[in-house]
Amino acid sequence: MWNTRMKGFAGRTLRTSIVPTEVPVSPEIAHVLDPELVDLITRMPKVELHVHLEGTLEPEIAFRLAEKNGVSLPYASVDAMRAAYDFADLQSFLDVYYAACAVLVTRDDFRELTLAYLRRAHAENIRHIEPFFDPQTHTERGVPFDTVIGGILDGLADGQREFGITSCLILSFLRHLSAESASATLAAAEPWLGKLVAVGLDSTELGNPPERFAEVFARARALGLLGVAHAGEEGDASFVTRTLDSLHVARIDHGVRAAENPLVMRRLAENDVTLTVCPNSNVRLRVVTDLSRVPLRTLLDAGVAVTVNSDDPAYFGGYIIENFTNISAALGLTPDDLYQLSVYAIGGSFADTHRKLELMDELESVFDGA
Ligand SMILES: [Zn+2]
Repeated sequence: MWNTRMKGFAGRTLRTSIVPTEVPVSPEIAHVLDPELVDLITRMPKVELHVHLEGTLEPEIAFRLAEKNGVSLPYASVDAMRAAYDFADLQSFLDVYYAACAVLVTRDDFRELTLAYLRRAHAENIRHIEPFFDPQTHTERGVPFDTVIGGILDGLADGQREFGITSCLILSFLRHLSAESASATLAAAEPWLGKLVAVGLDSTELGNPPERFAEVFARARALGLLGVAHAGEEGDASFVTRTLDSLHVARIDHGVRAAENPLVMRRLAENDVTLTVCPNSNVRLRVVTDLSRVPLRTLLDAGVAVTVNSDDPAYFGGYIIENFTNISAALGLTPDDLYQLSVYAIGGSFADTHRKLELMDELESVFDGA
């Protein structure tokens, strides 16, 4: 039921005063968008299904933690670090991303990272999040698994208490590492199973096929966890099919290249597989040449449950609102589209039914569909 258009927007009166905080909207975007649409994007309650907590590490926090922990960063200043975020492709981004993670050492560092993202999420009226964390990025350099997840859960609990933002945490395996390393990570997670909702798969897609992780995903399912996986970002539409066949995931992260194959889109639509699309990321990592090439409209028209997300917002020039405003400006999205994307995000989330109904109520209150 969640992936079906529920109501149109046309003719509704917008309510005001839903979002408590001013949020930044790029001036160059704001002037090409109808101010009412920008206002709607700002005020509508949002669900973020594709965000890597390590990808929310802003240079300011990185420098502060580096100093505290005696870690040296390969940049002279915050500005120099930000200026280095000009990536040729996924791999060149990952090199910078993994290097910056070295500043995260103590449980409190992970709590601070998580809470900083939640503060920003609150300012952008995100009401529910399903963030990834990559434990292997930290355990490989000697930080214990329990330190990582303990700090993240502390931050998520703080954020729920302070801002009412609910969350479902996803443990993501790094696909450039071995299946054995993924299995060891899942084993380390077993004492924390009650705090995890799903496993994921990210990092370099080409050369690291999904089939290699079929066994660890099956084991995760047996432990009661759901599955999601990055696919169809670097890899073509066949990677989406292979990921569904081998990992049996509920969502595909990115998946934009599914738009190259009508049969793959039909399979996604018929099976209610949600795609977590990240427009800014696709441009910054050169998956597409510009925002107008992000095939959001093609996917929507094919009935695919597509959502808008930020991926690694500290690195890709914007959080969820900037992703919504950018793609709306590029593709001419309408209030109806924004409503549909929001319904897909709520429906594709792993929140329980009670929470989904609350989120739908909040959405309806903004779109005034009562
Ligand atoms: Zn991602």
